[in-house]
Amino acid sequence: MGKSTLFNRLIGQFRAIVTDIPGTTTDILRHETHLAGIGQVQFLDSPGLMDFHDERPFIQYIVDHSDVILFVIDDSIGFGPKEQEIFSHIMRTGKKENVILIVNKLDINWKEKEYATAVADYYAQGFDVVIGVSALKELAIGDIKDALQHKIDHSPTLQKKVTPEEKKESRISFAIVGKPNAGKSTLLNTFVGEYISKVEDKSGTTRDYITTDFIYEEQQYTIFDTAGIKRPGHMRGIEKIAYTKTKEMLKYTRPTVLFMIDATEGITHRDMTLIKEVYNLALPTVVCLNKMDLLDKKQKDHMMKQTQAKLDFATYIPIVPLVATSGDGIPNIMKMVKAVTAEARRRIDTGELNRAIAKDMITRPPRFPKNKICKILYVTQVDINAPTFVVFVNYVARANFAFKRWIDNTIRNYYGFV
Ligand code: GDP
Repeated sequence: MGKSTLFNRLIGQFRAIVTDIPGTTTDILRHETHLAGIGQVQFLDSPGLMDFHDERPFIQYIVDHSDVILFVIDDSIGFGPKEQEIFSHIMRTGKKENVILIVNKLDINWKEKEYATAVADYYAQGFDVVIGVSALKELAIGDIKDALQHKIDHSPTLQKKVTPEEKKESRISFAIVGKPNAGKSTLLNTFVGEYISKVEDKSGTTRDYITTDFIYEEQQYTIFDTAGIKRPGHMRGIEKIAYTKTKEMLKYTRPTVLFMIDATEGITHRDMTLIKEVYNLALPTVVCLNKMDLLDKKQKDHMMKQTQAKLDFATYIPIVPLVATSGDGIPNIMKMVKAVTAEARRRIDTGELNRAIAKDMITRPPRFPKNKICKILYVTQVDINAPTFVVFVNYVARANFAFKRWIDNTIRNYYGFV
């Protein structure tokens, strides 16, 4: 039915920390995540067994224990006997109000602009929130989050469960990324040994990475670590798999990236390939030059300059020196990690944003070819991490690369977004 694809997309969409909660007695998949504006949320997913008879108790458990039920049905199948039975159970337990009906696979029979019409029939079944999506094509997934928010905002019992403190997205998740031998495990060990007051190791059961929670200077952090890139001895054989896993992890959890470069080797082609991947995902990033203890003063300066030059496509990324073995530089790095994460989560007020852009359109306007001027009608920030802006213009075809750069630079000039 595409439920697990949807589940993964949802977690990706929420761009939050995903941790597996071990020690559960059933085979129900649980993912705990923090949703901005909502707080700590636990997703329960049934194991997806072939035989409905076997799966029934899991589904019933989930219905009985959830505050909101995302009831996923396959549009190409519709409301079959299995769906009817689940629905009856929902009605029996008096949880109809808590249901968001998600009609998946709409891409098979409908065009995206027809989705709203396509789901109209399902309202007739007695659901008050129905959302048509295509998990495969990642269409309309954002609507689910909005619907979830709506359900919570309109339910007094759920409101009580969300404390203002929880609403703040306070925990910082970060990943140490870099080529083998850059010193990633060394840094992690130094960290765990000297700086971390509380470490909680959770081994992933359904995912291929482990997370470590800790508190540093009153800030909660979670380090994401893909198994594999940690073990230098086993590197060669699994390197490729580890690389793919790392990319998946970065994409779905959107941590702040601590990108590690071995300063004794300089910034290599391999480093550049990796860092461009991170850059393309628009993740908050701090670059650290490790093994600085092996360089003399002149070499250090040279290395700093060379790295700056190579990262000229993203001059806002902070570059910090590090000695992972001794921990020299860690406090500075943590300061940077905290700062870039805060930047990635900033929201700019729409009115203020439009005033700033309008001002610069006059004082330092972007250049266009003759008779090809593109005017900005309206700008609004639609998302955080990555901060995403939608710009409405009079002629989309005239919005050339230079113009997009101009918008990017103007927003950065005013608001940073390192
Ligand atoms: P990983 O593959 O990125 O996890 O790299 P490791 O943490 O295994 O480190 C590779 C090698 O570099 C090990 O022999 C470390 O002792 C060494 N190393 C890591 N960081 C430093 C550092 O800051 N200074 C020096 N001198 N050696 C380091």
